[in-house]
Amino acid sequence: MSATGPATESTAGAGARQDRYETVVGLEVHAQLRTESKIFCGCSTKFGARPNTQVCPVCLGLPGVLPVLNERAVRFAVMTGLAVGAKVAERSVFARKNYFYPDLPKGYQISQYDRPLCTGGGIDIRSGGGWKRIGLVRIHLEEDAGKSLHPEGREGVTTTRVDLNRSGVPLIEIVSEPDIRSGTEAYDYLIRLKQILMYLDVCDGNMEEGSLRCDANVSVRLKGQAAFGTKAEIKNMNSFRNVERAIAFETDRQIRIVESGGRVAQETLLWNADKGIAETMRSKEEAHDYRYFPEPDLLTLDLDPAWVEAVRSELPELPHQIRDRLTRDFGIPEYDAEVLTETRSLATYYEEVARRSGNPKLASNWIMTEVNGIRNKEGQSIEEFPIRPDRLGDLIKMIATERISGKIGKQVFEMMLTRPEGPDELVKAHGLLPIDDEGSLRALAREVIAANPGPAAEVRAGKERTFAFLVGQAMKQSRGRAHPEKIQEALRKELGAG
Ligand code: ADP
Ligand code: MG
Ligand code: ZN
Repeated sequence: MSATGPATESTAGAGARQDRYETVVGLEVHAQLRTESKIFCGCSTKFGARPNTQVCPVCLGLPGVLPVLNERAVRFAVMTGLAVGAKVAERSVFARKNYFYPDLPKGYQISQYDRPLCTGGGIDIRSGGGWKRIGLVRIHLEEDAGKSLHPEGREGVTTTRVDLNRSGVPLIEIVSEPDIRSGTEAYDYLIRLKQILMYLDVCDGNMEEGSLRCDANVSVRLKGQAAFGTKAEIKNMNSFRNVERAIAFETDRQIRIVESGGRVAQETLLWNADKGIAETMRSKEEAHDYRYFPEPDLLTLDLDPAWVEAVRSELPELPHQIRDRLTRDFGIPEYDAEVLTETRSLATYYEEVARRSGNPKLASNWIMTEVNGIRNKEGQSIEEFPIRPDRLGDLIKMIATERISGKIGKQVFEMMLTRPEGPDELVKAHGLLPIDDEGSLRALAREVIAANPGPAAEVRAGKERTFAFLVGQAMKQSRGRAHPEKIQEALRKELGAG
């Protein structure tokens, strides 16, 4: 290193060196399955109950009890596997993952290890201008652990309490191949995975309540290099945006280490969202040896292929299938179809509006701009949006058939947000119908000419540019209701007559 080492490391130089590396990311996502009862007992899974009120000897891990597998949890896991094109094993095996932690008093978690329920499959994400498939390693079933809480006790002392209501709630863990190459790709992967889970209705997707949790494995390597670098695992990210930020942070940190001649340590990091940094939690040397072994209290999980096929045939339509159908049947652009399939209910809403209005592209424009504009501002789901598809469809039909202008349409739309009437009634009640009959237009033209004698005289004298001014006055006077071409005709006639 030269004597002026650090000083010569200009930011430009650092940036250029950064570009020589690529990030490699694999994600491990835990999704809570939306069952009524826990995976191995009958306790409720309802979120938010008083601590330790939804527990029994099985999920408390008391000795001498036997777990009984929840069929619906298996069905939900199989549905997920089939939806992402994974192979569903005819036989999979539950295994004990042994470790002690205050929120896991029985000393082991029932999970799956070397024989998981699903293997392979993938999720298509956006990358560059096109699509890219992120492969999946596996999807397996397991039980959740409890939760440690740290309320402040007497005299400001931090205490630790354990809530075991969550202990035994069914989870699937979805493990991706290390195919992800940036925080942005990771973000898109998570959005699309969540979307699939929500379409299947197997998970409520609520990150605040911990229904979806993600750990990120991150390494860096020189571009073109075949071998992967040593990975670090980041935990504790409570939003998809935090996953994206944590990956960017960790990429940067690892490149610095490698660039300065160091070696990345295989360790587990905790994301600190407030500070925007990842901090060491434990190094791999002190990592657990889980001593997995087949769970002796459960049978192997054997699935009848006919049952799996029945589950497959009952799968609901998936986001990409609806996207394809909307572009095909309604001729809307792929971009529109993607926005409109954000949720299953938005897609259904759109389909109804498109059919009823008779103009699918105009329907798409209105939903993407006006409806979503209001929803984003108010934080509303489409179910909560006050204008139901029949009324919106009727409004768009009026615009599409030129019964009213788009501008009047917006006024009617605003009224419809707080009133129950249909657009037709509102238009009539508020005198918003267009003025397009000869008599009314001529009367309006006469009024405008009388009110603007100077400009009228100029037009009569041949100053064409002033004509636009008179048209503007007529539109203003009629609050946009005058038929734009016909009012010009009427003005010409009246100017000629005067
Ligand atoms: P471990 O045994 O440490 O849990 P796994 O092989 O089970 O590691 O992989 C866990 C996750 O880490 C997977 O999502 C996988 O894609 C990802 N992964 C594996 N190797 C790397 C690497 N070198 N860089 C980034 N991610 C990786
Ligand atoms: Mg792992
Ligand atoms: Zn229980």
